[in-house]
Amino acid sequence: MFHEKVLVIDDSAIVLEMITRTLADMVEVTTATTGKIGLHLLLEHKPTLVVLDIKLPDVDGAKLCAAIKADKRTKHVPVLLITGEDIDADTETQAFAAGAADFLRKPLHPTVVRARVKQQLELEMRTQALNAANTELQRLAGRDTLTSCLNRNYFISSAEAEHSRMRRHGHAMVLAILDLDHFKLVNDTYGHMVGDEVLRCTTECMHDAVRQEDSVGRLGGEEFSILLPLSNVAGAVKVLERMREHIAALRFKDLPEDFSVTVSIGLTEVSRGDAKIEDAMKRADDALYQAKADGRNCVRVITADAMPLQ
Ligand code: GH3
Ligand code: MG
Ligand code: MG
Repeated sequence: MFHEKVLVIDDSAIVLEMITRTLADMVEVTTATTGKIGLHLLLEHKPTLVVLDIKLPDVDGAKLCAAIKADKRTKHVPVLLITGEDIDADTETQAFAAGAADFLRKPLHPTVVRARVKQQLELEMRTQALNAANTELQRLAGRDTLTSCLNRNYFISSAEAEHSRMRRHGHAMVLAILDLDHFKLVNDTYGHMVGDEVLRCTTECMHDAVRQEDSVGRLGGEEFSILLPLSNVAGAVKVLERMREHIAALRFKDLPEDFSVTVSIGLTEVSRGDAKIEDAMKRADDALYQAKADGRNCVRVITADAMPLQ
């Protein structure tokens, strides 16, 4: 079974038969004799390439090409236009303007058909590989390499975007800042490598404790930020208290059985009065400071009107 599919739309049975035979050992070929059937098969079969006759009984091939290029479901599919022998420069220019990738001029020669189709398929493969690499690069560019959390910049810009959505739709949202307690001592006692492993395990635990729609970012060092959209303070406190307990209960393979790491967490609701997400981050940071002052390994809240709840 072939991986690539080519759809050929032409009203001539001779042309369809010739192209199908020519490409039979390269790709899976589907054929259509009218523009209407072609469009239907295009949506159904999702081919890699369309070979399209410029003269069809029901539609103008160049217009059909333009329609394929205008539709977001099909615009990425390259179109090879089959033209008559007597095509003039104007028609050719219009067809390119309609989005045709290239031409096949009649009379069709099997070797030319193969070469042009092969060229388009290779170009398409390269485009797909490039798109996949770009997507992966974008994903990695937003991540912290040690912990795979969102990095500071990415976290803040996505929190800013969520804040704008919240202002439009008026839903609740909570922001928390979490800091590992006495982490310098972990590094000083067991070394930086063990410290890194503790950081990795701790962030895994953070991800496990939150929901899919929540996000965890590394603000820097051993300080993290968590955004909980669609949560109110009471709900977020429950989630973060559970997270704090799970982190304190973590055990590490290279460390003594009685070793544990704890975290302090400050949180606040993001308010409509916050002009920027940094305003809420400042409050969450103040709440964190309070958690540290209260002896660490605890969760503290500062509400938007700056009244401490605990
Ligand atoms: P507190 O409870 O007040 O937060 O005390 P602390 O020791 O956690 O805070 P402090 O700011 O004094 O020290 C933070 C430590 O975190 C010092 C630094 O070496 C360590 N650290 C920051 N980033 C990393 C990292 O990527 N890997 C490791 N292993 N350690 C890190
Ligand atoms: Mg710390
Ligand atoms: Mg710190």
